[in-house]
Amino acid sequence: MAASTAGTNGHAVAVEVGGVRYPSARQAAQALGLSPNGVSSRCHSPAFPDYRWLGATPAKRQVHDPVTVRMGRELIEPARWPNDGGARRMPVMDTNFDPPRLVRRVGWLRCVCCGRPHFSEDVARARMCVECGGSGGWAVGVRPDGDTLT
Ligand SMILES: [Zn+2]
Repeated sequence: MAASTAGTNGHAVAVEVGGVRYPSARQAAQALGLSPNGVSSRCHSPAFPDYRWLGATPAKRQVHDPVTVRMGRELIEPARWPNDGGARRMPVMDTNFDPPRLVRRVGWLRCVCCGRPHFSEDVARARMCVECGGSGGWAVGVRPDGDTLT
């Protein structure tokens, strides 16, 4: 029996016929003088109890698609915007969850210590500017290179 896997998709499924195990339906078919489809249909037919299908038919091979990959996607971080006095709050979303999960909100705040506006990466937890020892961002006017940068 010169078995060949040429032309298969690499997902050979073992079958057992009359207690003899074959590594694939194709090889069983060659040994028994049947077509591979004939072996397959007998394996799945109650009329042939001595034909056994030993493995599930493999599913279609999965193709890597970044849209469907569930882990490792980056947070959606809104771009910083000019000081609006705290009018706008933008959500930071974690798209590794479906639906995407709210991580935190960013926006302009007045520092609870010095009262100067600063852009906070978390308006709920980072309410004090860096200048005052917090983690909310640099207060307006602290740095010479502009008010909207940290
Ligand atoms: Zn401050």
